[in-house]
Amino acid sequence: MSSFQLTNSVTDQIKKAAQSYGACRTGIARLDRVPDYVAEAYSRWLASGHNASMEYMERYEAVRNDPRLLLDGAKSIIVCAFNYFPEKIRNKSLPYIALYAYGNDYHTVLRKRLRPLAGVISLITGATSRICIDTAPLHERYWAVQAGIGFTGRHSQLIVPGTGSYVFLASIITTAELEPDKPCRLQCPAECRRCIDACPGRAITTDSHINASRCISYLTIEHRGPFPDGTNTANCLYGCDMCQRVCPLNNCVSPTAISEFSPQDTILTLDADTIPDMSPDEFSNTFRNSAIKRAKLEGLRRNAALIISQRK
Ligand code: SF4
Ligand code: SF4
Repeated sequence: MSSFQLTNSVTDQIKKAAQSYGACRTGIARLDRVPDYVAEAYSRWLASGHNASMEYMERYEAVRNDPRLLLDGAKSIIVCAFNYFPEKIRNKSLPYIALYAYGNDYHTVLRKRLRPLAGVISLITGATSRICIDTAPLHERYWAVQAGIGFTGRHSQLIVPGTGSYVFLASIITTAELEPDKPCRLQCPAECRRCIDACPGRAITTDSHINASRCISYLTIEHRGPFPDGTNTANCLYGCDMCQRVCPLNNCVSPTAISEFSPQDTILTLDADTIPDMSPDEFSNTFRNSAIKRAKLEGLRRNAALIISQRK
């Protein structure tokens, strides 16, 4: 990681620093309560049961709707996008693994990169900050749009113009009052429905939300216990990405420069057949640094068993 260059404005210094720690895009928004339409859309999604078993998404509503409650005196949010598109892709004959899981677990990688960035912010502004990487209840995509770094596609993922949707988002909430960016007003092309048509679980709803109980990404990663009757995971071992794979706004992707996201050899070659006999120790050792451990050994075995049974 290189040291950042001092520039004229505080926000420029922060963005340069974020870039030096690997962010491909950084934007700033002024913190406030989210508008009612955002809170209401989220409540409707929960009320439809589309969060499936992810009950944690129902908690901390007040904080989610007003992230100023996350940090005393919070004034601004800095949202960073980090490209994770790998330089090598698994052979198409192997079951699918989501691209975000090829390298080291992003929670650890990004926290290591955002910590010094928070230090830089503190040094420049004297402010206190809080890092959020999937660790706080936050309408993260809404804030990414407000910070001007991208827009939400019909598949419900953030699309960074010129980079695509294979990005992790990480945020820093700070007491510094920073000059905000303009929100991103772009949208998906009006006629495009490719992600909706290609979704193997028919999980993308008409209001561009995801019905998690139908989403293969949810089913193969978050869901515990047996699959619901009739589940077809479309040869996915962990995650799915189909909605991103078909998206024309991902034609611009280029490989990540973040070395920790380079594909691990064991993940590039992992086949379903090796999983049923994997011991808990082998599982822990193989996926110690990988997001795949999230599925747990039982989950990965269940996913592999379905793939193997559907080959017969
Ligand atoms: S990850 Fe797969 S199943 Fe889930 S919404 Fe995207 S295409 Fe559909
Ligand atoms: S496939 Fe089309 S509709 Fe779906 S997110 Fe990409 S551009 Fe938007």
